[in-house]
Amino acid sequence: MIESVQGTTLHPSWGRAEITTRAVDHASEVYSMKIAVFSTKSYDRHSLELHNASFSHELTFFEPRLSPETVALARGFPGVCIFVNDACNATVIEDLARHGTKIIATRSAGYNQIHLAAAKQHGILVARVPAYSPNAVSEFTLALILTLGRKTHKAYNRTREFNFEIAGLEGFELRDKTVGVFGTGKIGQMVIRNLSGFGCRILAYDKYPNEEAKKYAIYVDGPTFARESDIITLHCPLTPETHHILNEETLPYLKDGVFIVNTSRGALLDTAKMIKFLKSGKIGYLAIDVYEEEADYFYSDLSDKVPTNDELARLLTFPNVLVTSHMAFLTDHALRNIAETNLGNFAEFERTGQCAHQVRE
Ligand code: NAD
Repeated sequence: MIESVQGTTLHPSWGRAEITTRAVDHASEVYSMKIAVFSTKSYDRHSLELHNASFSHELTFFEPRLSPETVALARGFPGVCIFVNDACNATVIEDLARHGTKIIATRSAGYNQIHLAAAKQHGILVARVPAYSPNAVSEFTLALILTLGRKTHKAYNRTREFNFEIAGLEGFELRDKTVGVFGTGKIGQMVIRNLSGFGCRILAYDKYPNEEAKKYAIYVDGPTFARESDIITLHCPLTPETHHILNEETLPYLKDGVFIVNTSRGALLDTAKMIKFLKSGKIGYLAIDVYEEEADYFYSDLSDKVPTNDELARLLTFPNVLVTSHMAFLTDHALRNIAETNLGNFAEFERTGQCAHQVRE
């Protein structure tokens, strides 16, 4: 039998109420943990509470991001659950360790927001959700390409205003395009598979080529990839090697009018240079679900504020740029898988002191 217990606490530093929900499974032995959940949105809470029925963790939801200013909220919680824009830096980790945190588990695949060396130094285990739905990100990538390529975002706005003119909405077809997929891991492979239905030529680039990608794509060297791709979509992690991989030096090697898609991590692109090359026409289309400075903006409603980021504001003025706020993952399947794996990471740690999805430095 599952029973839900709700309590309300008022944290003095925030002056806001948080609801604590605890599901108790009386039927089986369970490994539950007291977990502080940061950056909680309604959909996180809904899916975590739903799937916690099988875990019986004691979840306390906090809307704010984890940061040096909010880390006090996590005091006394052995488990801390975070998302992509929580600032899990050395200062925060040191504070968490001092107040009893043993495991930080991110609800994401990427973990560049966590200072791994600091976690290791303080004996805190870091876990992630390695793959929750490559399909979700792949389908969203295709949606971005098709939206900008067929101008459906503009058509939508026009018809909403009873403007049924179609001049200016000319698009292109994918069948005679060459699409370059940079990074052929879980998501890149799915993008290649999904793209194969459109009849386009698919090029692939990866440090470690794999057989699955070769079914529909041709691996080529870097210069060929850059020279021949009409559309380039990035599916590699953010590392020192891939930081600003498209920059002042590399962008000139791409095709004139190239279409760039980034659903991976913002800092893969040098945003200032993207603007420069958009202005010159070298970049014909840019679709981004991630942005270098996204932590200050994404996941917040700032519609009644004056824009303070000139770069982001400039990007949004281009008719050939589409910006979404890190939502490629946001599907029914992905939310379910994230909740199950994330809660499972805490349970496994509680049971064994280890975790199969541990992130190591
Ligand atoms: P993955 O680890 O399965 O694959 C990454 C691939 O990149 C690997 O094949 C690897 O060999 C390759 N790679 C790494 N460094 C490279 C380099 N320097 N040059 C060429 N290839 C390189 O990862 P994944 O699950 O496919 O995720 C890809 C990206 O998508 C990650 O950055 C992840 O954070 C991001 N992501 C975004 C969202 C979203 O909502 N926008 C959701 C999930 C994942």
